[in-house]
Amino acid sequence: MRIQIAGMPPGPQIFDQESAASRYVGGNDIFPQDLWIRATLEREPDVLKVFLEVEAEASFSCDRCNDCFTRKHLCTGTIYYAFDDGEDFSTEPEQTLLPRNATEIDLAQDIRDLLILELPTKVLCDEECKGLCLNCGANLNREACSCQDKPSDPRWDALKKLRNKSTE
Ligand SMILES: [Zn+2]
Ligand SMILES: [Zn+2]
Repeated sequence: MRIQIAGMPPGPQIFDQESAASRYVGGNDIFPQDLWIRATLEREPDVLKVFLEVEAEASFSCDRCNDCFTRKHLCTGTIYYAFDDGEDFSTEPEQTLLPRNATEIDLAQDIRDLLILELPTKVLCDEECKGLCLNCGANLNREACSCQDKPSDPRWDALKKLRNKSTE
């Protein structure tokens, strides 16, 4: 996403883009549909403030039952670009340098980082997901297996007895 910044008027400027996810996260099947991107830029004397909102339909697989499902993935982030005069001044660690005479800015990397870094590391299809039966592998959200009814493994009986004792 390239945005002209030369002659940008003061105050927040909004830029919207709808784009194929492959433009930003190529070879990735997490995002099967288009991304909706809104960049709000605000130019100040020494800093260009970029507020990014990216919305995408993301396809996940549940950590508990392995089912695939899609969910809206909305991420936001603010990036600060400091204009570089070629002078020796220290930038804040979270600032990226931008040449003072830059006429446009390319936000592709920022968009990519935002999308990938904000992906949840653990996802459940539902908070109540029952998961898979550890014994037969049945998806307990869809079917009730009969493992529970079978006689339990005698090795666990000792433990159960212990547990019953401790709750008495
Ligand atoms: Zn699940
Ligand atoms: Zn089972």
